[in-house]
This record gives sequence, C-alpha cells and structure tokens, in this order.
Amino acid sequence: MKKQNLKNTQYLSGPEILKEMNISWSKEMSKETKDDYQKVSRVIPEIEWPFFAPYIKAINILKKDMNAVILAHNYQTPEIFHCVSDIKGDSLQLAKEAGNVEADIILQCGVHFMAETSKLLNMDKTVLIPSMKAGCSLAESITGNDVRKLREKHPNIPVVTYVNTSAEVKAESDICCTSSNALEIVNSFDSEEIIFLPDEFLALNVAKETKKKIIMWKGRCEVHEEFTPEEIIEFRENEPGVKVIAHPECSPDVLEESDFSGSTSAMINWVKDNQPEKVLMVTECSMSDNISVENPNVEFVRPCNLCPHMKTINLQNILESLWNKEHEVTIDPEIAIKAKQAVNRMIEL
Ligand code: SF4
Repeated sequence: MKKQNLKNTQYLSGPEILKEMNISWSKEMSKETKDDYQKVSRVIPEIEWPFFAPYIKAINILKKDMNAVILAHNYQTPEIFHCVSDIKGDSLQLAKEAGNVEADIILQCGVHFMAETSKLLNMDKTVLIPSMKAGCSLAESITGNDVRKLREKHPNIPVVTYVNTSAEVKAESDICCTSSNALEIVNSFDSEEIIFLPDEFLALNVAKETKKKIIMWKGRCEVHEEFTPEEIIEFRENEPGVKVIAHPECSPDVLEESDFSGSTSAMINWVKDNQPEKVLMVTECSMSDNISVENPNVEFVRPCNLCPHMKTINLQNILESLWNKEHEVTIDPEIAIKAKQAVNRMIEL
C-alpha cells in the first residue's frame, strides 16, 4: 500500500485518494476502528463515523509510509485531535516538540504561524499545512515594519512577541512568549519598560501582574475578544455551581469574572486536577470537546466561539496535503535565522 507503489502520483482529491488506496467504509472497518470511535463517541454521533473512519485510516497509513508526523493544536476538532495526531498541545508544547521531531515531514494541524514555528525549528524538513486559509487575526494585526517603527519610537526597550505572529515579526523581536510563560518572560528582563506585542488583552493581563510598564499593540484574537463579563455572569446564574476558566487572550474584565485563567494546557490541567462537576471553558469550542473525552465525570457548559481559521482544517485536506505534498511552508533563510533565535530564547528560558 506504499504511496510510491501506487500507480497514480498526480494531484488527487480526498475521495480520489481513498479510491486509489482502496479504502471505503465497511462492516470490517467498523470493527477495525472501534477503539478510535470510543475515544470520540461522546462528541461525534455514530451516524457520522462512516464518513470520518476511511479518512482516518488513510491518513494513518500514509503517515507511516511517508515518515510523517502530525502536530495538532488543542483547538483542532476531536477526530483530528484524538484519531490522527501524534503530538498535541498548546503553542508552547508544539513549538518545543517540533524541535525534537525526527520524521521527514511535519504536517501542522494548526494555523499558519504555528506551521512557520515548526519550520523555523526544522529548516531541513518538509513542513505542510492542510489549508493556506488557516491564518490568525493576531498574527495579521502586525508586520515586521510595525515592529521596526516601534523600536525607533522606544529605543533600547526589549521587544517580547507572542508566538501568534509571523516569522517576519518574530525576527524583529528579542524573544517570543506564549500565554503560559508571558509573565515569566516579561519579568526576566532588567528593563523597567517592555514592548509586548501584539495581543492587547494578553498585554493588559500581564500588566496587571508585573511592576514593569508595558507598551502595547492593538492586536486582538477574534475568538476571545467576543466573550463579555455579562455573558459569564449570565452563565453563572443559569448554571449554578459552574466553575469558569478563561484564556488570557480574553479581556481583563472577563478574567475578573473567572475562577482561573491560563493557557489552553493550563486549562486542561486545571480540569484534570480539580474535576469540577460543571465547567465553562471560556475559549475556542473544540477544547471542551477534546478534553471531555478524558474527563467523563465533568459536565462541560459550552459557550461556542469557533476559530474560523482553525476550522479550515479537516480530515480531507489533511489527506490531500499529505498525498500531494501540498501547501509546503517556506521561510526566507535570513528571516528564519533571526526568528529562530527569538523562539529558542523562549524555549531555553
Ligand atoms: S483562536 Fe484566536 S489567536 Fe488562536 S488562531 Fe484563532 S484567531 Fe488566532
């Protein structure tokens, strides 16, 4: 079944690849994929499984044949997160793991800046992203030129940049950070002022916890900026006893109404450790679906804000990207060297 042994090597669509690989839904496949279905049965109706299962089987075969690994962010849908990914996590975990990958091909189930980060740490490997539409409102809010202008305006002030940025922006920065280490990284500088880019809400939340003066940018995550404190209060009224945990890309007013705030991984750990009866995760929808699988005794109250960029990735375009080696991520080598330094300084801290 090796891809190189198959007759047709021209561009093929998902259904054509399944046909070429001779994979289709059958009673036998139902038995074969029983364990995979068990992992997602709380969130995927049984009637939908015959559509997902052939793609899952084909992707897992191709991954082995092509010596590829799949990295999936916590916001990916459950069939991707639980059934085809090899490494899962938040931006920091994925960045750290990307540096240790030994496979020839990395397929990134996440948005474009995440795939760029994987490429930075693996310039000799092929990095693929299933959808070129997987952008990010934060990454698109700022350019390398904006950072250069800020440096001119605030000379000698360190620049800390959230990983949700392009390689070009990272290359203009002293160090990167994620939502899990932002405060630690800001506090690691001697300077009394820090330029913190580009997420305004994350910057405001860090500013509340540090003595340093934070110079901010007006970037926002289009998913997290939608949540309001009024919405949280209403949920608490309708769902007595619910615990509220929020991502720090939400506004400080939303965090004020929450019981806990942290990166997606910190949120996952909080649920695992505390096992609340009912929890409201104030972040992208798929998080609740993904972690409900491992926390069967917790009821998840779902305020649904989907990330339209993360949701451009699906099983069909994962298979197409692998088979056709489509949407390869490339970075100018000069930019890559500088951007990699900023990412590595974060990883090494
Ligand atoms: S959830 Fe927000 S920060 Fe994350 S990729 Fe989507 S738009 Fe960007």
